[in-house]
Amino acid sequence: MGKMDEEDIEKQMESLLTSTQRMIQNVLHKLGYSQEMFHLLAEPLRTLVVRIPVHMDDGSKKVFTGYRVQHMDSVGPTMGGIRFHPKIDEDDIKALAIWMSMKCGIADLPFGGGKGGIICNPRTMSMGELERLSRGYVRAISQVVGPTKDILAPDMYTNSQIMAWMLDEYNRLKQVGSPSFITGKPLSLGGSSCRDTAGAMGAAICIEEAAKKAGIPIKGSRVIVQGFGNAGGYLAKILSDEGAKIVGISDVYGALYDPNGLPIDYLLERRDSFGTITTLFEGAISNEELLEQDCDILIPAAISNQITAENAPHIKAKLIAEVANGPTTLEATTILAERGIVIVPDILTGAGGVIVSYFEWVQNNQGFYWSKEEVKEKLREKIIASFHEIFKTAEQRKMNMRLAAYMTGVRKMAEAAQFRGWI
Ligand code: GLU
Repeated sequence: MGKMDEEDIEKQMESLLTSTQRMIQNVLHKLGYSQEMFHLLAEPLRTLVVRIPVHMDDGSKKVFTGYRVQHMDSVGPTMGGIRFHPKIDEDDIKALAIWMSMKCGIADLPFGGGKGGIICNPRTMSMGELERLSRGYVRAISQVVGPTKDILAPDMYTNSQIMAWMLDEYNRLKQVGSPSFITGKPLSLGGSSCRDTAGAMGAAICIEEAAKKAGIPIKGSRVIVQGFGNAGGYLAKILSDEGAKIVGISDVYGALYDPNGLPIDYLLERRDSFGTITTLFEGAISNEELLEQDCDILIPAAISNQITAENAPHIKAKLIAEVANGPTTLEATTILAERGIVIVPDILTGAGGVIVSYFEWVQNNQGFYWSKEEVKEKLREKIIASFHEIFKTAEQRKMNMRLAAYMTGVRKMAEAAQFRGWI
């Protein structure tokens, strides 16, 4: 992204696990748990690394590396997405699995967190190659996953077609018709309505609530969204339909900024399936520059480690809503808090996806499907309850919302582990 080269991203990603562990340690201490509880929660229960040989279209063979990490199953089976990305490693996936546990805890879902991924570049692969890779991944991890063990879902650069191939492979292998093995499926295979837009819808509800608390009316507010993919693109659309002025957006190559507002519908029509749009326009600025432009609400919805101790003093927004996983470092969080800028943390703002994944799993298990209105209403109920619980904890304990969110997430897992007699 921008100036940052891939090696930097990788180095910083490694520290995501360390900073997450620091947060867990801090919270367990505040909650009065023992050091053994930290040892249980700081690392995933299981990490599976697999090799996946794939026939490529040109006749060659290529071996890919994949992961499935199950962080904690004290509350219930694990659940979480699978990402296809050239730059992932075991530590990234571990941190992401821990965050899934937090999201499940915050949203009060009967699950713990899991995450998976394959090191690959989907931009350069054909549909046939992606299908063979997806099926190979399921064959490689089939023993440790399942509808009551570990449920898969979409994540970065995976979509409903990939979920469909994975479901088909699992059902063939196990000789079952078991749709709740994976969520984010197409509607005709037992997908839930709103699953594709759930991440953005959940984030929009959090932003509305946080903006009310901060005294910023959404109508007329100036918003910057970093990232124009599934989450960022649709969120820009929802907020713009609500009357906000989207003054900045970006993709992996650069950013567009216009203080008079950008034509979101027009841009959405022209982006590709990876959210690329800025290459079509003159006058693009960098992602780094975008974050420091004037706005009321800043929404990092791309990748991690975007707001750091370096640029935090120059951020002009009054409210930051994290839609990407881990976009703000802990140091930057402290700087922004001192400057009176409210941050709605990723594990709360980004919980919409897993909440509707849970709804999809419930509908699959009961074999009875809900209307769009029902899904929307139930999502709203859950997000609003989670937001207010965390906001209240933050106020009462005089802490930032990130710490308050971790308190809720960690407490649920630790309590369940204690009831089971593990610690
Ligand atoms: N990949 C999304 C996330 O990171 C959704 C996961 C899910 O649906 O379980 O929250």
